[in-house]
Amino acid sequence: MGDETITAAGKECILVVGGGISGITTALEAAEVGKEVILLEKAPYLGGRVARTYQYFPKLCPPTCGLEINFRRIKDNPRIHVLTLSEVEAVSGEPGAYEVTIRQNPRYVNEKCTACGDCAEACSLMIPNDFNLDMDQRKAAYLPFSMAFPMRYVLDPQILGTEDADKCKAACKYDAIDLDMQPQTLTAKVGAIVVATGWRPYDAKKLDTLGFGRFPNVITNVMMERIASPNGPTEGKILRPSDKKPVESVIFAQCAGSRDENHLAYCSGVCCLASMKEAAFVLEQNPAAKIKIFYIDIRAMGKLEDFYNKFKDDERVEFIKGKVAKIEEDAATQDPIVEAEDTLSGQKIRAQADMVVLATGMEPSTAAERLPMDVAYDEFGFVVSDGSQKGIYAAGCAKRPVDVACSLQDATGAALKAIQCLRR
Ligand SMILES: Cc1cc2nc3c(=O)[nH]c(=O)nc-3n(C[C@H](O)[C@H](O)[C@H](O)COP(=O)(O)OP(=O)(O)OC[C@H]3O[C@@H](n4cnc5c(N)ncnc54)[C@H](O)[C@@H]3O)c2cc1C
Ligand code: SF4
Ligand code: SF4
Repeated sequence: MGDETITAAGKECILVVGGGISGITTALEAAEVGKEVILLEKAPYLGGRVARTYQYFPKLCPPTCGLEINFRRIKDNPRIHVLTLSEVEAVSGEPGAYEVTIRQNPRYVNEKCTACGDCAEACSLMIPNDFNLDMDQRKAAYLPFSMAFPMRYVLDPQILGTEDADKCKAACKYDAIDLDMQPQTLTAKVGAIVVATGWRPYDAKKLDTLGFGRFPNVITNVMMERIASPNGPTEGKILRPSDKKPVESVIFAQCAGSRDENHLAYCSGVCCLASMKEAAFVLEQNPAAKIKIFYIDIRAMGKLEDFYNKFKDDERVEFIKGKVAKIEEDAATQDPIVEAEDTLSGQKIRAQADMVVLATGMEPSTAAERLPMDVAYDEFGFVVSDGSQKGIYAAGCAKRPVDVACSLQDATGAALKAIQCLRR
């Protein structure tokens, strides 16, 4: 199904806003029982944050396998209408009969694209690579990632009016580049809406005592996912940013900004496990590496506790109960130096390592950008979806910080609620 047209809409149609794992799952669950679905995503590709994750805990398997299966299911289902580069502009109406105005931004590449890559070859303009959190650059004509859905190149708007734009167009044998493409306004009639707009990492620059942005070897957990990924900025080699040296020692600072009234007052629930997983990435590449994890409490619920127990017994991984209060830098080596208090012994600790990873939490995408529709938010900006509001439901991290397994369960529940709303 192309991503420029809405071919079906109306009472029997559900709009899903956000094409991460929660939105994809909601769309599939609803479409596979016969409902029409519009799956709307503001990025040029589906997959959300998990597309940028190297491996999932607890099994340490790549998310690409699951995504690939889901992309195939979407491709094979004519009832799912995918709109990328799109956002909701306005919603009117009531449960069972909404009218939605959608803005779709231009990709400058049409459906004739075969993903041959000739435009990228011809392009010399480089731009920051937001897929890799700006840790490297990419061509202004690009495929977001190797198994992107839709499998179609994108031209960044910065290329317009440059010689590179003309070179890209000339390089395309398939007449797939349209430099005159304009934003489109689309209207859809839908019976129910599911908000699956997910999360974004808490801005580590706000944690002024922890040195992020000042010290190059202080990074965040989401940066670590990209660094460890074969399609990341260092092709999967875990090198410290300042001198590209393979890391021999890494400190993980848990609750960086989380469970803190001045930042995120809540626990994100996944970042303890994410740090252990990322410690495993380091140990896989360098089995002699030394890891220290500074924590307040370890959150690993249910079956996930086994994952924690495995690390607890590994002598290369030291768990220290104490929150990191401050990070400085050794001027000679650029090693970060961590200060904390070991709450079990009462001792002040100073520890130095090649690199520090801040376990920043998950903030709802809607914390900063409210949606133009009648939804309630809690004090942190998560969408309230407690069943009291009919017609508009939320799934996954739009609702609360959760892992992928919970996102899937949540999405299935949201699809059912939306289907029930259509039937009223
Ligand atoms: C460091 C880290 C590592 C993690 N590792 C794991 C792991 O190993 N295993 C695990 O189970 N979980 C892990 N998680 C959690 C996992 O990332 C989330 O459970 C998952 O991303 C939730 O998916 P989602 O679809 O709800 O949200 P997202 O992945 O955030 O997807 C939301 C989508 O909505 C889109 N969107 C946002 N706003 C709009 C809008 N206004 N209009 C249209 N589209 C919009 C976004 O572009 C995005 O594509 C990790 C989390 C962190 C912080
Ligand atoms: S836009 Fe044209 S040149 Fe670029 S990848 Fe697509 S088909 Fe190939
Ligand atoms: S999951 Fe762990 S690191 Fe994340 S906020 Fe909760 S306790 Fe802190």
